[in-house]
Amino acid sequence: MLVNVSLAVAVAASLLGSAAAAPLVAVKQLVERKVNASPDFNITFSSSHTDGLPRTLIMATGGTIAGSSASATDSTNYRAGSIGVAALVDAVPQLLNVSNIDGMQVSNVDSGSITDDIVLLISKLANKALCGSDPEYDAVVVTHGTETLEETAYTLDATLMCDKTVVVVGAMRPATAISADGPSNLLEAVTTAVSPASHGRGVLVVLNDRICQALYCAKTNANALDTFKAYEQGFVGGPLSTKPFFYYPPSQPTFKTVYDLSNVTSLPRVDVLYSHQMATFDGVNASVANGAKGFIGAGTGAGGISPWAKQNLAYVMSQGIPVVASTKINNGVVAPDEDPAAGSYISSALLNPVKSRRLLQSL
Ligand code: ASP
Repeated sequence: MLVNVSLAVAVAASLLGSAAAAPLVAVKQLVERKVNASPDFNITFSSSHTDGLPRTLIMATGGTIAGSSASATDSTNYRAGSIGVAALVDAVPQLLNVSNIDGMQVSNVDSGSITDDIVLLISKLANKALCGSDPEYDAVVVTHGTETLEETAYTLDATLMCDKTVVVVGAMRPATAISADGPSNLLEAVTTAVSPASHGRGVLVVLNDRICQALYCAKTNANALDTFKAYEQGFVGGPLSTKPFFYYPPSQPTFKTVYDLSNVTSLPRVDVLYSHQMATFDGVNASVANGAKGFIGAGTGAGGISPWAKQNLAYVMSQGIPVVASTKINNGVVAPDEDPAAGSYISSALLNPVKSRRLLQSL
């Protein structure tokens, strides 16, 4: 398929206005695909090939990193998911000095519209790309809207069956904004993904000059650039001159579990219930009637749920439907019960409600 060169060049020009005056690197061209990737990968474009460079598959899903607005000062009312993967890569020619790149447009939506099927597809493709006996790629980068980025990143972390690196990256400012953060985030993401120093650390979230492990990483601010954090556990590193610098040798989180979803074709519906004073969760029966197979309580503290809500949850649990007690505080632990009675809540341990949801869906 031919690259949409005019859009790519227009976006590159708008994003790299000042850099374009004094380019530091040769701009390599995106070219029509010449090498046959396995038909599983519906590649939209390939970069020109440089011998000796690693191979990265970028799966683009949309979000603010692919967002555009008529105004360079607009960071709230833009349209997320409007720029394609070729234009994203073409805006950062330095990428092609770091890796050969294949781009695949998995979706182009705001991250509130990411479905279970999209996440399942990305998980399967990432495993195929990296973990087979003769893997076609050295690294995978997923571009994603920041609002539900941690859900996809966590699912990939819990389902990737090898020690290679998947990096999930987004941006807080649309591609058309002054000082858009997408281009540098993308360069740091690919540079981190292809670095052997990243292996064995699980899926990584790279934004704003920080590297965060997906299991712990969460969005903490609705607007600011420094939004992805792991408050308790901290960052595992930060890019220096775009290259990853890790503070510690590779390690994995204490409670990390990995599930093989290669034969799974759909994920069950699991709903999150937000707890508060006088919460009733009266809607759970309607949710069950509509197909919910499990619930996550986003508790007020370490799993706290009102007595009225508990009654409704006790009823659904008596029907064999699992309920996980998590916390809306997003930090801290809902400690596992040492001697759980039959039919009691499952504790989320360190997982926040949305990650608990993804884990319950994968069990
Ligand atoms: N505002 C969001 C973002 O930062 C939009 C989305 O999540 O798609 O990407």
